[in-house]
Amino acid sequence: MNNNLLPESLEVFEPSTQEFIKSIPATSPEEFLIKIKNAKQKKEYWNNSKPRYRKIILKKFRKAIIKRLEDFIVIITKETGKKKFESLIELYGAVEHLKNTETLINSIFRKKRRNVGTLITKKAWTKLEPVGMAGIISPWNYPLLLTITSVVEAIAAGNVVILKPSEYTPLTTELLKEVWDKSTGEEDVFQVIYGGSDLGSKLVNSNHVDIICFTGSTKIGKIIARDCAKYLKPVILELGGKDPMIICDDTDLNRAVNAALWGGMTNAGQTCISVERIYVDERIKDIFIEKISKKVKQLKAGKSTNCDIGSITTKNGLEKIINQVNKVKNTSGIYQGIVDDKKGYFYPPTIVVDPNDDSDLMKDETFGPVVSISSFRTIEEVIKKANSVGYGLSASIFTKNKKRAIIIAKQLKVGSIAINDVLSHYGIADLPFGGTGLSGFGRVHGKEGIKSFCNLKSYMTNRFQIGDEIWWYSKSKRYYNIIIRFLKFYFG
Ligand code: NAD
Repeated sequence: MNNNLLPESLEVFEPSTQEFIKSIPATSPEEFLIKIKNAKQKKEYWNNSKPRYRKIILKKFRKAIIKRLEDFIVIITKETGKKKFESLIELYGAVEHLKNTETLINSIFRKKRRNVGTLITKKAWTKLEPVGMAGIISPWNYPLLLTITSVVEAIAAGNVVILKPSEYTPLTTELLKEVWDKSTGEEDVFQVIYGGSDLGSKLVNSNHVDIICFTGSTKIGKIIARDCAKYLKPVILELGGKDPMIICDDTDLNRAVNAALWGGMTNAGQTCISVERIYVDERIKDIFIEKISKKVKQLKAGKSTNCDIGSITTKNGLEKIINQVNKVKNTSGIYQGIVDDKKGYFYPPTIVVDPNDDSDLMKDETFGPVVSISSFRTIEEVIKKANSVGYGLSASIFTKNKKRAIIIAKQLKVGSIAINDVLSHYGIADLPFGGTGLSGFGRVHGKEGIKSFCNLKSYMTNRFQIGDEIWWYSKSKRYYNIIIRFLKFYFG
């Protein structure tokens, strides 16, 4: 991958073999301006299009994606290094979100009546309107799912869209754009630019782009927030996480062990809502570690079909994981699975017991198949630990006691909670998703996801006309006393 400033091409490599796949031309500054111009020309048309027409377009798009299902699975697997089954699940999530967005379009844009309170001569309503032109910047870990959800929500809301996918995984987007163009006939409504951080920055700083939706690291999210602040440009930030999994002493232990492994290792741990920190009740800690360590040793990372875990997508990512684990390996218990491949960026599935709370592994996002285990004695203690890192994306709680789960959930500073499950909340397309603290702000998915790309316009008019309003100029003193009497009667 060529990561120079405004490179001429993006060279895409297969992380599980390090073999070259393809080179695609990067978007030049001149081409960028042309795309912006095209989007501007389409803006008024698409902003004013009927929601039911947008629904028809998105339905065509979904059906066309399903027709190319196998092609998507092949390309996602190749450019990310994930397992084929994981690519299938990613595609499943993408069309699930697409279909849910379609079902929301008709109702969400209707005008909604508002209570006028005591101003009974008035009527009031709200209506959602598109922001205009949306710039979307996406990461490499789910190149289809994390791209399509925001793109489709922005388009459903009536915005024209310019997408910049990650420079590491542009090929999934290339296919997506091809499918869009062929199935919808609305080429300029959704345009793509290819490049690295500099091009992303150009998009954020373009005067013509009215809103930015960024999914990526907290480090870059802060830069984008600062850039958007210069123009007071609205921004949705879907950033990193360090999700805790809290396991109480009354839990179904086998389910918790299997959930912890899958939640921490799927996609080689490169999921924003991966289980990164496990806090287990001290009373079941030993048995939990005994069970999970046995199982982790059986998990294999490698390219072949008998391996469970795919490769890390980027070399930098692999180095970060190695560094974090190396720093704690002499002071913690380590249990590791197998790497059954020498060519790609593979890292063994790893459990780290009792790493220091101040270590990078416990404070920073790891983004690899590594899960820490620590213990707790009281609910107060575990809530404090879970909330201690600043990230606030998701958390999971395992207990048979529903009341206890809710008590814990309410005190966790996160955007989403999964009870007796991990990660599945992301698959529920109607459930809003987003973070707090270092994990960002704004929501995607569900009707909130579409609304994130809209301006909410408020309207009022007179139900009937009564001459001047009583609070306008030139009113007699009499009204003063009438209003005083009314306030005492009605609100007193
Ligand atoms: P990244 O922040 O390095 O890059 C993300 C995107 O931003 C890329 O397209 C990149 O080219 C672009 N970019 C980089 N610098 C930029 C700049 N100055 N201006 C504009 N654009 C710029 O993230 P990544 O390594 O691609 O993805 C992994 C990160 O994404 C992890 O931290 C992960 O937790 C996070 N993530 C969050 C969510 C979520 O929904 N909260 C989902 C998936 C991934």
